[in-house]
Amino acid sequence: MKTANILGVTFHNVTLKDAVDAAMDQIRAGKKGYVVTPNPEIVYATFEDPVFRDIVNRASLVLPDGIGVIYAARILGVPLAGKVPGIDFADALMYRMSQEGMRLFLLGAKPGVAEKAAENIKKKYPGLVIAGTQDGYFKDDQQAIDAVKAAGGADVMFTCLGAPKQERFMAGHMDELPVTLSCGLGGSLDVFAG
Ligand code: UDP
Repeated sequence: MKTANILGVTFHNVTLKDAVDAAMDQIRAGKKGYVVTPNPEIVYATFEDPVFRDIVNRASLVLPDGIGVIYAARILGVPLAGKVPGIDFADALMYRMSQEGMRLFLLGAKPGVAEKAAENIKKKYPGLVIAGTQDGYFKDDQQAIDAVKAAGGADVMFTCLGAPKQERFMAGHMDELPVTLSCGLGGSLDVFAG
């Protein structure tokens, strides 16, 4: 996949459709990975934290979340097909997953929010299986990992803990989490909860 380096962050130069196609291929292949959707604040944060930058750059998909990244790309003269907002990626991915009866785990946000998001998602995409939910204010990471394990794992997990917590969580626990593709999606569960 073609990439565009913007201030040290290696974005994938993809449309929304390309991104979802790549994600679905990876899920079907059972190849573990994670997706990040950096906005300009996250790009800036990577300047000061090379470990965080490596985590971002090791993602299977690095999607330009907003127009700020696209403007930066233009100014720097590097090609990017367009913005791929995390919330649009999440929605399009759920649609595709629902057609194949795939399993989704929702992790993050305040207590009650992921459950409400799950209710709304089930109504919108009846074919999708919500494997389970866990709020984002767990005592330690192991508690969240155990919740995903107790739910029987999932094809995809929306990891919505805000940056850089979600990226660290996804990268740090990729091997032990019974999830194929983890997607770091910030405040998306609040949006899906309505
Ligand atoms: N959050 C969480 N656990 C934390 C800190 C934050 O689950 O320890 C959640 C918070 O409730 C919100 C999301 O992470 O739902 C972060 O949203 P925000 O809009 O700040 O993130 P962004 O989309 O800007 O990265």
